[in-house]
Amino acid sequence: MPHAAAPPFPDLAAASPDGLTASPWTQRYAALGKDFATPLTPSPLPAPYWVGRNDALATQLGLSTDWTASEALLHTFTGNQVPVGATQTASVYSGHQFGVWAGQLGDGRACALGELAGQEVQLKGAGPTPFSRRGDGRAVLRSSIREFLCSEAMHALGIPTTRALCVTGSDAPVWRETQETAAVVTRVAPSFVRFGHFEHFSHTEQHAQLRTLADYVIDHFYPECRKAAGDDGPYVALLQAVTGRTAEMVAHWQSVGFCHGVMNTDNMSILGLTLDYGPFQFLDGYDPAHICNHSDNQGRYAFFKQPNVAYWNLFCLGQALMPLIGEQEHAIAALETYKTRYPQALAARMADKLGFAQTHENQRPLIETGLKLLAQERVDFTIFWRRLSHWAAGMDAANPSVRDLFVDRAAADAWLADFRALHAQEDCFDSAATSKRMLRTNPKFVLRNHLGELAIRAAKTRDFSVLQQLQTVLADPYSEHPAFEEWAGFAPDWASSIEISCSS
Ligand code: AMP
Ligand code: MG
Repeated sequence: MPHAAAPPFPDLAAASPDGLTASPWTQRYAALGKDFATPLTPSPLPAPYWVGRNDALATQLGLSTDWTASEALLHTFTGNQVPVGATQTASVYSGHQFGVWAGQLGDGRACALGELAGQEVQLKGAGPTPFSRRGDGRAVLRSSIREFLCSEAMHALGIPTTRALCVTGSDAPVWRETQETAAVVTRVAPSFVRFGHFEHFSHTEQHAQLRTLADYVIDHFYPECRKAAGDDGPYVALLQAVTGRTAEMVAHWQSVGFCHGVMNTDNMSILGLTLDYGPFQFLDGYDPAHICNHSDNQGRYAFFKQPNVAYWNLFCLGQALMPLIGEQEHAIAALETYKTRYPQALAARMADKLGFAQTHENQRPLIETGLKLLAQERVDFTIFWRRLSHWAAGMDAANPSVRDLFVDRAAADAWLADFRALHAQEDCFDSAATSKRMLRTNPKFVLRNHLGELAIRAAKTRDFSVLQQLQTVLADPYSEHPAFEEWAGFAPDWASSIEISCSS
């Protein structure tokens, strides 16, 4: 559908978020200056409409309860107008993509408005920026819905992530493999600073800016690092803190079967948040070698490689910080902590999943054998853990719910017997309490590819009911939601034909 002219918009100067008197916007990041935040020329999208909304997050940001009744906010979150006190800027960063230095990248389709209630608000898909290179600055409805649903699903799973406030759509055409329509997802995070921001200033030898950025990140998000002794102490401490947070994040991913798909250094958050939802996927059948990004021919970002890739990416960050860090050994020592932090974090996640109150070395063989069994038979990862959680209430050898997931029943039985025996060794072992704990740890619902697809297909006909139902279920993934049993079942055959590429 051609859209030659943009529709008339309300007076920009008069526009301010509804229900709020003074401007609630702050500009902490943009205040760093033009080297960090480049103003944009807005390119409005015609006739926007609401696709998805997150009322809980809106409340946290101080928006009034009827925020989606506001035409002004509909246009604000589409990038069509700028509320008083907000700005529209893009930031420059660089990065390593698929292991290769890619040079300058930057927010090619993300427009920062500033901060609300201390949270940065960013519009993804709001049009070209000075960093769009050959891109159109747009995002399509399909990928915007995926990002919206997944960020909130991850948040509900307790996984550090950027959040999503809303999605707006427009019939404006956007070309990918075929013609699609435009959408804008409003993302929210304390900061969207990436490893790639540091790499940019380091690689271009803008060391003053590098220090400014590091100081900004330390002062606002890692204030404890400021106390570290020595000239380079705070920067070494920052590297170590980011290493820790990244280790925790990836351990969470591995424990729920989340495959990010594009772990380039420009997609790594300095706060250890899951960032830039593109070709991500929750595993259906457990396959450690699974590659969710069809553009990743080498399998660099296969599921089982994620912990190592994170470590590699942290080395890029360490390298970028070297102008601020006196001794290479200091950086290496900070990075080395990953080797203990990641296994510890993963062990903690796995102990939780298995219903143990504490981690113990003797859980390791059980975990290794269990994952091997799952991999051998490509057993559905989410369903296995959920069934095990229910099974744990009785640990009844005659109950077939878990063993029926395996062809090799004898191997499954042997593993379940080991699981039971290890629990029986615990002081005050209580199977009901164990099961209850496991049901709060092992989700019934994750955003499987085919579920996202159902929401997308309906949304293309302007039916947002599936999206809303999914959003509700995924916001509370540990509850039973009996009306949505089907969404907790095995992926249908057609799910394997969904191709998720970088194209978004
Ligand atoms: P990604 O792999 O999606 O994280 O994107 C890598 C880089 O390409 C980032 O700098 C993005 O801002 C940029 N980019 C991706 N898609 C577009 C687009 N449609 N228009 C402009 N820039 C884009
Ligand atoms: Mg990116």
